[in-house]
Amino acid sequence: MSGSTITPWVVGNWKMNPMQANAQQLIQDLKQQLQQGDILEGQCRIGVAPPSIALSSVQAELANAAIDVITVAQDVSRIAGTGAYTGEVSADLLKDSQITYVLIGHSERREIFADTASVVAEKVKHALAAGLHIIYCVGESLVQREAGQAEQVVLQQICDISAVVEAEQWANITIAYEPIWAIGTGKTASPEDAQAMHAKIREGLTQITPQGPSIALLYGGSVKAENAVELAACPDINGALVGGASLNAESFYQIAHAFAQSK
Ligand code: PEP
Repeated sequence: MSGSTITPWVVGNWKMNPMQANAQQLIQDLKQQLQQGDILEGQCRIGVAPPSIALSSVQAELANAAIDVITVAQDVSRIAGTGAYTGEVSADLLKDSQITYVLIGHSERREIFADTASVVAEKVKHALAAGLHIIYCVGESLVQREAGQAEQVVLQQICDISAVVEAEQWANITIAYEPIWAIGTGKTASPEDAQAMHAKIREGLTQITPQGPSIALLYGGSVKAENAVELAACPDINGALVGGASLNAESFYQIAHAFAQSK
């Protein structure tokens, strides 16, 4: 089923970047691009995910951008509420700071910080309970793809959270399909392969929830201005989660523009 009625959604994941002076410049450049460009409010949702230390300041600085820019947290604690958990930021603390969107399950969290399926499910559960909107990341490794297991791995990652998502909470979930072998490598899944996986994800979601056809599916993995138009033309690719290219305002704007124009 085509997701063409879904508003496109492009999110820049700044990861552990940039230093403050460069962040200031990036924000100014992005505001300028949005001011001078022709993306209309509602044509494409735009988000940026800065490091947690910068969430509130970035949100404040983007408040007067020409169109709405959503500030997204890159992760959340698996512990809810408040308490003696050094170094953690809970969903409730994010909500209390007016940060209402969060990435969960990014492959860098899964691989480098041992976010297992059960840890990820706890994060999802608490984030949804706090009223946050989740961008849930899934994706297979190169070894898994070459072994013909890509679909199975990705659908399992969706099943991993389905037990903790209440029926009405699917409205607060976006899925980002990010093949691990394409993240930060310059290798992008071909539009055909990405669309094929997105169609499978949509089919899987539709079996789990009646809201499946309206859940936004983002593609991530070396998305650039140069490949965004082709990816945006795919019916089940409703947007992009962009790493490296989001650190350049012009590239990021062009990716958002490609999605805004395509749907
Ligand atoms: C990401 O980390 O979410 C990502 C897609 O990175 P890049 O665009 O740099 O591959």
